[in-house]
Parts: sequence; structure tokens; C-alpha cells
Amino acid sequence: MSTKRDYYEILGIAKSASQDEIKKAYRKVAMQYHPDRNPDNKEAEEKFKEAAEAYEVLSDTDKRAQYDRFGHAGVGGRGGFNGGNMNMDDIFSNFGDIFGEDIFGSFFGGNRGGGGGGRRSRGTRGSNLRIKIRLTYEEIAKGANKKIKVKKYVPCSHCSGLGAKDKNAFQTCGTCGGSGQVRKVTQTFLGQMQTVTTCPTCHGEGQTITSKCGHCKGEGRVYGEEMVNIDIPAGVQEGMQLSLSGKGNAGERGGAPGDLLILIEEEPHPELQRDGLNVAYDLYISFPDAVFGTSVEVPTIDGKAKIKIPAGTQSGKIFRLKGKGFPSVNSYEKGDQLIHVNVWTPQQVSSEEKAFLEKVQASDNFKPNPEKSEKGFFEKVRDIFS
Ligand SMILES: [Zn+2]
Ligand SMILES: [Zn+2]
Repeated sequence: MSTKRDYYEILGIAKSASQDEIKKAYRKVAMQYHPDRNPDNKEAEEKFKEAAEAYEVLSDTDKRAQYDRFGHAGVGGRGGFNGGNMNMDDIFSNFGDIFGEDIFGSFFGGNRGGGGGGRRSRGTRGSNLRIKIRLTYEEIAKGANKKIKVKKYVPCSHCSGLGAKDKNAFQTCGTCGGSGQVRKVTQTFLGQMQTVTTCPTCHGEGQTITSKCGHCKGEGRVYGEEMVNIDIPAGVQEGMQLSLSGKGNAGERGGAPGDLLILIEEEPHPELQRDGLNVAYDLYISFPDAVFGTSVEVPTIDGKAKIKIPAGTQSGKIFRLKGKGFPSVNSYEKGDQLIHVNVWTPQQVSSEEKAFLEKVQASDNFKPNPEKSEKGFFEKVRDIFS
């Protein structure tokens, strides 16, 4: 076990140094050994941490007095409070009240040392937001890009979301001394148990705001709106939910934003009916067209398509347009369009038509005579869905 260096020695100051001198000395040492300036330098990192620990003790009048009387043992020695186990996130988040303008700037950016693992959290996370988006079949087939104006909490532009009047409006939390956590010792049947909980005063933020931003009343966010660009992949279906991370409500006092959850709705198509990846279409043709054959235009989810109806087409026949259905949202599979032929029976006929129809009524050609190869309804359905 290495012996700890004297805190005054680390910061290069006299035992009689004032709080101001301590702060200045720490700033100097911290800048010198700052990891951004000494990439991959283990020694510098150790010195940087050492200085942070020294500052943590000496900047606190109570801890400093303990240290002056009892040395390292007086401030917890073996990792009592933060001794030796401060992590980088802690150190960086202490910078706000120590350093000037530049650090404050990056502080407002909010992402310093964001590699996780930091015990301290900033602000309160924003809630998720749900919106519905209605899409036509055509949009679903191709995928869509939607710009939607979303009403939600957005970061306050006056304080960049932190809720403070200005950079001097922060102070280290008096309850937790800036660590964002409080330790509680409770008696259990196993003996003393030490538990660590989030500081109730600063909610884990490590500092409190002395003067609130007037615009957002200290909340760090205001109700407003944001244009959100939403890319919807091709092939989505009614009831699917997409999630855009970080596009929900802004957090309070610089907390992470929630997510934007997008519920997909399908706009019913006037002529087409979706069935999974397939699209069904009911085609009506006249009796003469069924007899002579014809060529018709049918709607598809990708514009119009021309299809040939062969002579002698029976009502109930199903034609398949391969690959004209919906794409699958998570594979290369594509559905088909199924065209269901209905031969239209006139509801009323003129006396001329009636005379003609009576003439052909007795003809053998007009008597139903399904061929063996003609599939029945149930077989067709089985074919299509197998
Ligand atoms: Zn606190
Ligand atoms: Zn504000």
C-alpha cells in the first residue's frame, strides 16, 4: 500500500492557504494533468485524481479541520468518504463551480465524461412521448419520411436547460457535499449496514441552484414544439411502434430527454385491402368481357398495372401479380397482389337485352359445366395462403 502524499503538498500550497488560494492551486494542477491534455498518460491521470481528492478535502472547512488534526486518517483513510475512489465523472462534474467560463460552457453542453458509470446524475429524465402517424398504402410500400411538429417540453433556451440564472447560480449541495449521494448506517441483525442513496436535497445532482432562470422558473425546460424528422421504413403495419430515442420530452435541469414513440396507423385504401404482405383487389368485369377476354388497368400500391383477362375467364378466378405486395419490414421478402375476378351480373335489363338473353338461355354453352381442372373456392383459398 502506497503512502498518501500530503494534500497541501499535492496542491503546492501552505498550511495557512485561504479558500481562494486552494481553489486557484487546484485549478492550476488540474489543468496541468487534465486527461484531455495528457492522453493515455497513467501518471498524469493519477496526479489529476490525487489533486481532485486533495481539493475535495481542503475546500471543505470541516474536512480540512479534520485533516489538519488527524491527517489522512481523519478524513476516512481507507476510502471513508471519497478518498481514493473518486471516479473521473465525479471529478469532472465538480468542475462547474471551480472553473470559469470555458468549463461552464462544456458543462452546459451537458455531456462531459458521459461514458456512464458516473454515480451522479444531472437533472431528471424527460418522459416518453407517444404520437400516432397515419400512412397510406403507398407510403407503407415505399417507406416514408415525415416532418412532424411535436408539441413537447424543450430545453429552455435562456439557461440551456440547466435552470440556473447564470453560471454563478450554482452551489455545491450542502447535504451531500457535492457527491450526489448520502450514506446511511442502519442497524440490522447482521450488524451495521451502510447503504448509499441518492441525496434528497439535490436529487443526485451534487449541486443546487441558488438563483433560478426566470424564463423556465428553474425547471430548465419550457413547453414548446419541435420539428421532428421521422424516417419510417417500408413495410410497417398497423399497430407497430417505432421509437426515436431522445426525441421525447426534455428532461428537467439538463436531464436526458425521453423517447418519442410512434404508433403506426394505416389509412384504409379505397380499393385495395391489405392482408399481411399481400394485397387483395376485387376486380369486376362485364359478362361479355369475361367471354371475349379483355385488358384492364388495376390499382396497385405502386401505381397502376395493366393485366390481361383471357377469354373465358370464370367469375371467382384469382390472378396473382407476383411481388406487387408489401415488402417485409425485416426481411427481403415481398408479398403479391391477388386479383379476384367478379363477373358482373346486371341488376336490370332492357326488353331488348331480355329478348337476347332468353334466346341464349337454352344454349348449351351457357349451362354451367365446370371442368375438372377448375379449382373450387376452398382449394383456391388454400393455394393462396399456403
Ligand atoms: Zn446533494
Ligand atoms: Zn431557463
